[in-house]
Amino acid sequence: MSARFLQGREAADRLLDALRSRAEALAERRGRPPRAVALLVAPDASTLAYVRQQKRVAARAGLLWEERVLEAAGTAELRRALERLSADPEVDAVLLGWPLPAGLDPLEATLALDPAKDADGLHPLHLGLLAAGRPRVVPATARAALHLIRSAVAPEGREALVIGRSRTVGLPVALLLEQAHATVRIAHSRTRDLRRAVGEAEILVAAAGRPGLVEAEWLRPGAVVIDVGTTYVDGRVRGDVDPRAAERAAAITPVPGGVGPLTTAMLMENVVELAEAASPPAQGLPAARGGGRSG
Ligand code: NAP
Repeated sequence: MSARFLQGREAADRLLDALRSRAEALAERRGRPPRAVALLVAPDASTLAYVRQQKRVAARAGLLWEERVLEAAGTAELRRALERLSADPEVDAVLLGWPLPAGLDPLEATLALDPAKDADGLHPLHLGLLAAGRPRVVPATARAALHLIRSAVAPEGREALVIGRSRTVGLPVALLLEQAHATVRIAHSRTRDLRRAVGEAEILVAAAGRPGLVEAEWLRPGAVVIDVGTTYVDGRVRGDVDPRAAERAAAITPVPGGVGPLTTAMLMENVVELAEAASPPAQGLPAARGGGRSG
C-alpha cells in the first residue's frame, strides 16, 4: 500500500486567498486591515525566523503583522506588556512567542491577555470553551490537524490516538476529535505500551516532538497519520513518525509541508475572526444622527 500525502500547503493557499477578501472588507469598513502583534521574550534565531515567515504569510493574507521583542522580562513585566496590548484599540490580536523562556509562568502570562485578542487560543477561557463543546478560538495546529484528518476520513466512531497532551497541541486535538465522535486515547511520556496503542489506532496524531518516535511497523495498516512533530536534526526538519510509514498508512502528512503551512494559515484565520468579532458590520438601519432620546 502507498499512502496519499495530505498536503497542507494546498489547503493553506485556498484559505489565504479567502482571508485576503475578508481582510480587505474589514479594511474598507474601518480604515485599516486586521493587525496582529507577536510578542517575543528573548527570542532565539529560530523563533525570529519563524515569526518573519509568519509575517510573509500575513502579508499575503492582507494582514498587518508586527513583532515586539522583550529582551529580558520577568512574569510581572510580561503581564504588563500583555495588558498594554490588550488595551490598545489599534491591535486586534496578540500572539505570544512559545515556549516562554524558563522562569516565566505561561499560565500567569496568558491570564493577562484579553481573551478577545488571544489568536493562539491559549487563554484558559478558550481551552474551557473547547472542553465545554462551544469552542471560540482554537489553537491553530489543532484545527489544522483536524482539517487534514477530515480530508482523509470521517472521524466518527473511529479509534484515534493522540501522542502528546500539551495545552497547545495534543489536548486540543484530542478534544476536537472527541467532539467529532472519534473514540480518543491520549498517550504521553508515561504511556507504558505506545506500540500497542499505535497499532490499534485508525487515526494517529503524533505531537511529541521526538523524531522517529513512531516506527513504521507499529502502524495499523490503512491508518490516517497526522505528523505534527517538527524537530531540527542536522539542519533538517523531522517528524515524529518514521517516513516509511507511508508504505503502510492510507494517508499521511509529509514533514515538512503537511501540518505546518496549514497551521500558519489557520493562525491567520484566527486573527481575522478576532478582528471581525471586534468590528461586526452594521446591522439594520443606520443609527439616527444627533444622538439622545426624543419624543
Ligand atoms: P510539548 O509541550 O513538549 O509536548 C510534548 C508532548 O509529548 C508531552 O505531552 C509529552 O508527554 C509527550 N511526549 C514526549 N515524549 C514522549 C514519548 N516518548 N512518548 C509519548 N509521548 C511523549 O510539545 P508541543 O508544543 O505540544 O509540540 C509537539 C511537537 O509539535 C513539537 O515537535 C513541535 O515543534 C511541533 N509543533 C508543530 C506545529 C506545526 O505547525 N507543525 C505547531 C506546534 C507544535 P508529557 O506530557 O508526559 O511530558
